[in-house]
Amino acid sequence: MVGKWAFITVWLLIMLIVFGYTIGDKTERGLFGALLGLLVFLGVYVIYFGVAFLWTRWQPVFPQCDQCKKSENYKTEESIKDGFRYRCGCGSQYLYVKDSSGAVKFSGLLPENEIRSYMKRSRFGRWKLEDEG
Ligand SMILES: [Zn+2]
Repeated sequence: MVGKWAFITVWLLIMLIVFGYTIGDKTERGLFGALLGLLVFLGVYVIYFGVAFLWTRWQPVFPQCDQCKKSENYKTEESIKDGFRYRCGCGSQYLYVKDSSGAVKFSGLLPENEIRSYMKRSRFGRWKLEDEG
């Protein structure tokens, strides 16, 4: 994952420096054009990661596990209809089911295969308790 981003970053950087040089060349600004390319790159980079960061704050991929309160220990157990079954590091199991509107339900799966309603979100909304309507 990190390797992929590093690759994209370096590639973008090179493209923008080349782009900057081309502008510099056309406008006879030389090195200044390259710096301009670099600045454009930094701007795009900061905005992109800023938005991505804010977005994941707004809508994390998973809500917290309601047993251990962590949200980063889920592992995919199996693919199910319209979603996946996940197991948290603490042993709790959840069903992640997406409907055609992009809304997601994240329900607890009890050992007896009983489903317990827990969290839900709309396509662009935040996670909230399913009982909160
Ligand atoms: Zn847990």
